Amino acid sequence: MSDADAALHAALATVERRNPGQHLFRQAAHEVLESLAPVVKQHPEYVEGAILERMVEPERVISFRVPWVDDSGKIHVQRGFRVQFNSALGPYKGGLRFHKTVDEDTLKFLGFEQVFKNALTGLELGGGKGGSDFDPHGRSDNEVMRFCQSFMAELAHHIGEYTDVPAGDIGVGGREIGYMFGQYRKITGRFESGVLTGKGIGYGGSWARTEATGYGLVYFVREMLRETDYSLEGSRVVVSGSGNVAIYAAKKASQLGATVVGCSDSSGYVVDEEGLDLDLLCDVKEVRRERLSAYASDRSSAEFVDSGSVWDIDCDIALPCATQNELDGDAARTLAENGCRVVAEGANMPCTEEAVHVFQEQGVLFGPAKAANAGGVATSGLEMRQNAGRLQWDFERVDSELDRIMTNIHATAASTAEEYGMPGDLVAGANIAGFRKVADAMLAQGVI
Ligand code: NDP
Repeated sequence: MSDADAALHAALATVERRNPGQHLFRQAAHEVLESLAPVVKQHPEYVEGAILERMVEPERVISFRVPWVDDSGKIHVQRGFRVQFNSALGPYKGGLRFHKTVDEDTLKFLGFEQVFKNALTGLELGGGKGGSDFDPHGRSDNEVMRFCQSFMAELAHHIGEYTDVPAGDIGVGGREIGYMFGQYRKITGRFESGVLTGKGIGYGGSWARTEATGYGLVYFVREMLRETDYSLEGSRVVVSGSGNVAIYAAKKASQLGATVVGCSDSSGYVVDEEGLDLDLLCDVKEVRRERLSAYASDRSSAEFVDSGSVWDIDCDIALPCATQNELDGDAARTLAENGCRVVAEGANMPCTEEAVHVFQEQGVLFGPAKAANAGGVATSGLEMRQNAGRLQWDFERVDSELDRIMTNIHATAASTAEEYGMPGDLVAGANIAGFRKVADAMLAQGVI
């Protein structure tokens, strides 16, 4: 076994030994390390500098109690976390997730992925992630506000414009960021706009941040299709989820001439052969905060299905935009059999390793999350720039910067895959390109 292979095996064995039961983090580490052999072989300095071992160990994991009082006066206690994974390229940056399944494993997997994704944007961003097992479903605005205030009462000690800059993720949108920003301002006595991104336009937010992950995903798909005979125009698209990423991916795909015929939430999925009515979908999910069945009740061309999988719908392009491991090997085979030609990940690690292998074997073009959904964090980076300069750019400027960054990420992943002898393999290309950027910065900064 070469030194490079031995180092990769040793790093993986360390991840398994140190993180018993943390299946998501182990899966994410495996997926990245598996693709690094060619680059580690060419660069023995990464092995000598123990870069692999250092990269799979977060710089810091903070865990804290979050007590809050519901509308009936009952006290609840949640767990809060911030995983500060790697700051070699800039302040820790990554979203906060509020979902009942959140635990340290989930946030370590997300923080690890974030390190490489942020490197690909070319902006000065380290990687981190945080959140809580708080479930916002069915909670009143006042309950959500009290929870956010309690969560920020502790988180405020660990974040800052030059330290760690959280944003949204599942269960955390503009409303939650607003409550958390207000509490941070109260605790610190400072209006530090660069401490959180995804803020409202009226108090330091950036135009196009809300749209950025979904729009960026579709710009990435456009680049994937550039040298093929296919295009978004006239294609059938299915998205999963019906949250922030899914809605704006569907909007941009429709603007570019696709028909988006399906989406989902955790209660089931909707098929709408006339193409989703995205104004109605936004109203149901973002304004009324109702289940997806309400969309089908209000639209005669739509059918709500509460069993099976959204991936049973025939499509040319599939955009998983809900959550991790939502598209497995069987779903991948169904998609390929139904003629799907492109899959790009809007969510983080939505496709299992088996699903990715099926796509690669069947010749389905595959865009991995680290590259394809980097538009959100890239635009957060642009929000930080605007905050630092006390400026607000207009929508068109931010959107065109986002487009440029996504085009560039695709080109980097594609050319890196080619350089390392794996043309077309955007998984390897994105992993290697992100890894090299972080590894070189870590080497330059010494053993810390
Ligand atoms: P939202 O909370 O806005 O939406 C999440 C959507 O996914 C909802 O429709 C939700 O349904 C569905 N969902 C969540 N968990 C499950 C589950 N276990 N099974 C089925 N459906 C589920 O989150 P976002 O759109 O912000 O995030 C979606 C994904 O995109 C996540 O993986 C996130 O990490 C990733 N991402 C987000 C970015 C952003 O800028 N927001 C940036 C980069 C990646 P329900 O309401 O029923 O729970």
